Amino acid sequence: MIEATDPEVRAELVATVRRFVERDVLPVASDLEHADEYPAGLVATMRDLGLFGVTIPTEYGGLGLDLLTYAAIVEELAAGWMSLTGILNTHVMVANLLTGSGTEAQRARWLPELARGDRRGALSLSEPDAGSDTAALSCRATRDGDEYVLSGTKMWVTNGARAGLIALAARTDEGITCFVVEKEPGERSGGITVSRNIGKLGYKGLETVEMVYDGHRVPADTVLGGDAGLGRGRHFILAALEVGRINIAARAVGVARAAFEASLRYAQERETFGVPIAQHQAIQLKLADMGTKLEAARLLTRSAAERRQAGERCDVEAGMAKLFASEAAFEIASDAMRIHGGVGYTTELPIERYYRDAPLMIIGEGTNEIQRVVIARGLLARHRIHP
Ligand SMILES: Cc1cc2nc3c(=O)[nH]c(=O)nc-3n(C[C@H](O)[C@H](O)[C@H](O)COP(=O)(O)OP(=O)(O)OC[C@H]3O[C@@H](n4cnc5c(N)ncnc54)[C@H](O)[C@@H]3O)c2cc1C
Repeated sequence: MIEATDPEVRAELVATVRRFVERDVLPVASDLEHADEYPAGLVATMRDLGLFGVTIPTEYGGLGLDLLTYAAIVEELAAGWMSLTGILNTHVMVANLLTGSGTEAQRARWLPELARGDRRGALSLSEPDAGSDTAALSCRATRDGDEYVLSGTKMWVTNGARAGLIALAARTDEGITCFVVEKEPGERSGGITVSRNIGKLGYKGLETVEMVYDGHRVPADTVLGGDAGLGRGRHFILAALEVGRINIAARAVGVARAAFEASLRYAQERETFGVPIAQHQAIQLKLADMGTKLEAARLLTRSAAERRQAGERCDVEAGMAKLFASEAAFEIASDAMRIHGGVGYTTELPIERYYRDAPLMIIGEGTNEIQRVVIARGLLARHRIHP
């Protein structure tokens, strides 16, 4: 495990992740993705590198890294294979929820296991009838003595089957409460069942599942933040979503970078009408736009990460980074396919994978329509002219 204590060590860790991607990920990513096969070997290396504890404070066994470094690591992983960043994302959000909103007993109990990657985290907010409208969720937690009884159906749980710890939003008498639910990795654990594995356009190799809670009992001390956390779960999760949006923005930058760099290379190799296509102005215009959007997306992502790291709420900045970077990745992946012509549409190159992976960033962690609503609300609140 690498200890990250100073800027040079942090830069070395990002470089180590880049080498891991070049050596281990790129040669196998497309095959694993097409086979929809879980990358057990790659995940083992990520665990050895300490990535499951990337932002967890060192006193709980994590690397204690800042969000800027986290964003840089996510960019490197996504440039190799976006699915690897999904394996990390909700795990990091659960760790972030515990660090920011958990009691000391909850931090001490779960963070060391999460940091080692012995227990993997998943975040379960969405339901079949509650996606954008998070306040509409109907999963119920009913108090019964020293326990709560959980009942309801959760949708879109990334890492849900392999997870050993789920941050779950459920309705209690006080409002929406976040529970930290222990489970055995697998399809069934107590009253929890993985009821459906959801097929996806891209983002393959890791599971996104529907889960049913059928009278599943959890101790009352699993309420995130203790009794003070009752009814505050949505507030806690929305704050953690800022970190999730920084992850999404950084992975969009990674996918966009991979598509852009492949296009830069191909445009200089492929000749038509006696010259490399890079000499055609129509291709140059695309490359210029792609490079500019990529740079802007990366800067917005860094800016959001810096603000959050400084301890400030950054729903506007994280929303802007996620909105811009995901739209940029979608456009850059599409332009990469145009530049590659026919071969871009085949499975011989990863361009088609970037093209399938990019749209998820427009939807995940709140759709871009919802981002715009969040950004506008935040801007209006900051620039209110009437008290
Ligand atoms: C692959 C994948 C993995 C995911 N992983 C997780 C996970 O691990 N945990 C988790 O909790 N969730 C997860 N999600 C869920 C994801 O966060 C939701 O899909 C997303 O928030 C959108 O919700 P929805 O799909 O119900 O769309 P809906 O809310 O039904 O929205 C449908 C459309 O209406 C638009 N819309 C809705 N309300 C408004 C409004 N007020 N104004 C304007 N437009 C609006 C939306 O933008 C969208 O275009 C995942 C989703 C996917 C696809």
